[in-house]
Amino acid sequence: MIGTSHELCTMPLPDHHRDMEDYGKGVARWCPGCGGHSILAAVQRVCKDMQYPPEKTVCVSGIGCSSRFPHYMGTYGFHGLHGRAFPVACGVKFRRPDLNVFVITGDGDCCSIGAGHWVHAIRYNMKMVALLFDNGIYGLTKKQTSPTSPLGTHSNTHPGGSVLPPINPLQTTLGFANVSFVAQTTDWNPAHLYATIRKAADHPGLAFVRIVQRCPVFMRDLYGDIASNPDELIYLSHEKGINVKPGVAKTFKNVLAHDPTNIHKAREYAEITDGIPIGLFYQNIENSRYDDYGAYNMGMSNKVKQNAMEDMLDQYTIRNSIT
Ligand code: SF4
Repeated sequence: MIGTSHELCTMPLPDHHRDMEDYGKGVARWCPGCGGHSILAAVQRVCKDMQYPPEKTVCVSGIGCSSRFPHYMGTYGFHGLHGRAFPVACGVKFRRPDLNVFVITGDGDCCSIGAGHWVHAIRYNMKMVALLFDNGIYGLTKKQTSPTSPLGTHSNTHPGGSVLPPINPLQTTLGFANVSFVAQTTDWNPAHLYATIRKAADHPGLAFVRIVQRCPVFMRDLYGDIASNPDELIYLSHEKGINVKPGVAKTFKNVLAHDPTNIHKAREYAEITDGIPIGLFYQNIENSRYDDYGAYNMGMSNKVKQNAMEDMLDQYTIRNSIT
């Protein structure tokens, strides 16, 4: 018997189609020209295109300019402690694997005080999108040297110029155990920025995206010229990579063919300094995911849980053998 169209429909439909407005909240209080604005728009668009239910989406941040992000999303959010975005996000994902989780962190938040959490979140490889807003400076506290500030950066903490070489977040992440997705994009190329976050959202594990971000207030010189010259970008091209429309791809003069399953080449290309390589450096969809273990037996009833607990405790019962 042929059923009605309602009976034939096997996919639950959302109450309504969600628009960009459903993912926005308030007015972003970043400075004019800050790269945060375009990243926010890209994430909202990805959420809209994926039709993520706002009530099932969480943005978790630490501390810094970028970490104001959850306030501007019409989703759940957690504006946490400095450097602690990753452990909070891992906790959320571990107990609620049904939620869509975004981690928002800056170069100070992730690569300095939060570096220990960064290592282990990559290793846990739970399904989430981690966006590193890397502007090479502590902007919120008005210009201190960050772990990614170029050598010689003049800042409030190093008026004579910073003295240590910077961390390379791509190279570093590609060295962590169980790494499964590493990409790079820039805030000033909206098509590539969107395509990168969209690809990250489809990844089954932790997708780490470094976004080269402008801070026109405290690091005007770092990316100011580069942003106005598309020839400074090196487009990593591959059918398995991050693909933009042909019209956009044509604007990249410098193209480098790169198979993102090749981690050795990914590490090599992460070291490029004469230009900014953008695209997918590495992806492996086979790696273990810790959230798979968190989801185990999530649907267990209280009675079954209690019985399992009692069985476990029985193993430690001390029986009196003296008669
Ligand atoms: Fe953005 Fe820099 Fe202003 Fe912070 S200080 S909001 S990073 S432009």
